[in-house]
Amino acid sequence: MKTKDRGTVMLIIALLLLPLLLTALPGCAADERKHSRTLFAMDTHVDITLYHHSAQIAQTTIGEISAEIERLENILNRHMPGSDLQRINAAAGKEPVQVSRETVFVLERALEFAALSGGAFDPTIAPLLELWGFGGGGVPVVPAPEALARVRQLVDYRAVVLDKAKGTVFLPQAGMKLDLGGIAKGYIVDRAQELARQSASASFVNAGGDISISGRKPTGDDWRIAVRDPHDPRRWLAIINMEGGSVTTSGDYERYFEAEGVRYHHILDPHTGMPAFGLSSVTIVAGDTLTADALATAVFVLGKEKGMALVERLPAVEAILVNSDGNMLVSSGLAGQVEILGE
Ligand code: ADP
Ligand code: MG
Repeated sequence: MKTKDRGTVMLIIALLLLPLLLTALPGCAADERKHSRTLFAMDTHVDITLYHHSAQIAQTTIGEISAEIERLENILNRHMPGSDLQRINAAAGKEPVQVSRETVFVLERALEFAALSGGAFDPTIAPLLELWGFGGGGVPVVPAPEALARVRQLVDYRAVVLDKAKGTVFLPQAGMKLDLGGIAKGYIVDRAQELARQSASASFVNAGGDISISGRKPTGDDWRIAVRDPHDPRRWLAIINMEGGSVTTSGDYERYFEAEGVRYHHILDPHTGMPAFGLSSVTIVAGDTLTADALATAVFVLGKEKGMALVERLPAVEAILVNSDGNMLVSSGLAGQVEILGE
């Protein structure tokens, strides 16, 4: 072959290989497409979005994420038959229970947030939730004051015996019960995102308002997260521009019941046994979803002043609080990232 011909052949081969090379490069924006699926898990809709050059790989990854969400829910949900939580609760006052490392991890974090919030967040809240009839499938009722006073004695995170070395959990008093409903969803979203991140250059997981964002969109745009108006959930109050990390909202408008014209929702103040009042919604921005989830519940219970003081004290944690009178408060570090939407 003449040198010139050889050059032409090489060029043709190179041109033929180019598309192959481009698709093989992860993060090659031109070929990244959006792949989404919505599942029903953890009592809510879970949206999973991956940006990937291969629809097949994206769908396989989404399938793996879905299986992992189900596996973790079966461990951490106190209503799931045979879950770690159900076994711990059934053995209260009797004996320590051997649990999975996931339960040890989430419970340890839950106890940290309980201490950090002075018990506003308390993973032993379950007896109060049951007294109110939240979460068990029954009809919710406003409990009698005597019953509230009695059941409140069972709620105390400081009594939980977590033996990390042995991997056991013990609730020393019969009737005590754990509930990780204020933190487990955040943890599970983080695990889902971990799987998504291993495969996709950019991904988004949203479990009913517990959101994790990773990577840059192929367009290079920031992610825009809208904050709902708790008093009219069809409207948006603000947009948060984010490069990554997590956002979680706890509100009084999604799970509640009404009795004699009063609205009672499912975030309880462990100190009074009553639904926490004062705030209508709390949105937390943090580096991970477990933290955002736990703090959203904690700050909701703490209320405007104490809640915002806690947020301002914590590094890399920001918040948007909406008062029951509709006023909005934005933490100091978030101001530049938030667009307040007009009337
Ligand atoms: P959602 O589940 O609607 O996203 P949250 O993250 O605020 O809302 O969690 C509310 C759940 O947290 C309740 O359904 C209950 O399982 C649990 N919970 C309620 N009050 C408390 C509390 N004071 N501390 C810890 N967990 C709580
Ligand atoms: Mg929460």
